[in-house]
Amino acid sequence: MRFTQESTHLTPEQLLPNPTTAFQKISTIQLPTPFPPNPSFHYSTALQHYLSGRALLPDELPFSIEILHEHHLNGYITYGKGVENNHCHRCDNRKKHLFARFNCFRCKEDCTYCRNCIMMGRVSECTPLITWSGPTPTTSNQPIFDWTGTLSKAQQEASNRVVDTVQTNENLLVWAVCGAGKTEVLFKGIHEALSQNKRVCIAAPRTDVILELSPRLQKVFPNTSITTLYGGSDDRHEYGQLVLSTNHQLFRYEKAFDFIVIDEVDAFPYSYDPTLKYAVEKARKPESSIVYLTATPDSQTQKNCSAKKQNHIRIPARYHRHPIPVPRFAWCGNWNKSFEKHRIPSQLKKWTLQRLQQNKQALIFFPSVKIMEKALPLFQKLNPAIESVHAENPNRKEKVQKIRDGEIPILLTTTILERGVTIPGIDVAVAGAEDQIFTESALVQIAGRAGRSADHPKGDVVYFHYGKTKEMINAIMHIYSMNKEAGKRGLING
Ligand SMILES: [Zn+2]
Ligand SMILES: [Zn+2]
Repeated sequence: MRFTQESTHLTPEQLLPNPTTAFQKISTIQLPTPFPPNPSFHYSTALQHYLSGRALLPDELPFSIEILHEHHLNGYITYGKGVENNHCHRCDNRKKHLFARFNCFRCKEDCTYCRNCIMMGRVSECTPLITWSGPTPTTSNQPIFDWTGTLSKAQQEASNRVVDTVQTNENLLVWAVCGAGKTEVLFKGIHEALSQNKRVCIAAPRTDVILELSPRLQKVFPNTSITTLYGGSDDRHEYGQLVLSTNHQLFRYEKAFDFIVIDEVDAFPYSYDPTLKYAVEKARKPESSIVYLTATPDSQTQKNCSAKKQNHIRIPARYHRHPIPVPRFAWCGNWNKSFEKHRIPSQLKKWTLQRLQQNKQALIFFPSVKIMEKALPLFQKLNPAIESVHAENPNRKEKVQKIRDGEIPILLTTTILERGVTIPGIDVAVAGAEDQIFTESALVQIAGRAGRSADHPKGDVVYFHYGKTKEMINAIMHIYSMNKEAGKRGLING
């Protein structure tokens, strides 16, 4: 898209059939200062609902150029720069090697585009990012809050803090052990925000989490419009008062939310990808609150918490008031060599046979697909129903369902199942726990698969190793100290 520039507005090339003036890419234009929207203009509520709180490309807007121009002339739409001097304003990419030049049919010259966010449609030097500068949509109806569950003492305390955070526009980290019931802790805070006509977003790194949350929240907030966004979702055209989104979809939002919840803040890719932090900062309103959820904060965050530099609250116990099973170490010799020689390390083999004899289900975590695939036939000799699963498995979900249904006695897995999986009554082993893929956070998450249900609050968790690492020791200390705190605060029985 190219524009001519006048003192108060831009006019797109398409609207001037006999151009006499020169057109420019938006990246080279000195943008006019935005002016307040004309109150007597009858704006399109469809456009308002579509665009409010977002920054979109012209291709993403199902409205004609005439409609957009009319709204721009009346101060309801602002054109911003997409890419300027090797800086992408959608994803904040500033790395030179993540830009490329192409012969652009729109501006009819060489044009630089951002490769970092190309999966969301191309942003280039001649691509405007369009935002809504009119009033935001309002809902007149009070949100119905339909939840009759009860909270544990620790959940209740955390829930109160979340409500405070929403009221005071602060930030809060909720550090809740795996299986603490962190979603319920959010309900009151979300209700508080919705009652104040605030717009709420819950962002999570994984599509699975978003898909699981969506129906749950719709049940609790039956008259609230909920938008569910993930790669390939078709909800993106609706205005939601409550938006559930994978981290990446946040890039399309700008100054949209009064309250944002970031789930699994320690999880890939949020902690490794600084541009996602930018997405959150961009998506929130200047006056807004953020709640971060995690079971396993990174070491810097843990330090900030102990130094009281980070507003936080801990939920050190599970809802069912039993301590988290503390993992134990078991030396198993050179496991890599054993698998090379087609042998299961004897300690691990013994443990596996015990589980099979006692009819106890188990997950065994492996450091890589390669080693796991070598190990699988050896385990299948012990029991042919043993299966394996990894990220590229198309039938990953079916296999998890099969172990839940009791059809698979033992499932070998990579770290793909370290989070979010609940299988009642399982034991857990890590084969080669000293491998560098098993960080403190991964090991705590893996241990957190055991003892989750009230009927089976115990479980055996073993880190099989060929030399202990600091991460392994930290993981055990982490779980131990959470149990200790839970005991002190009277959150567990016995
Ligand atoms: Zn970008
Ligand atoms: Zn171009």
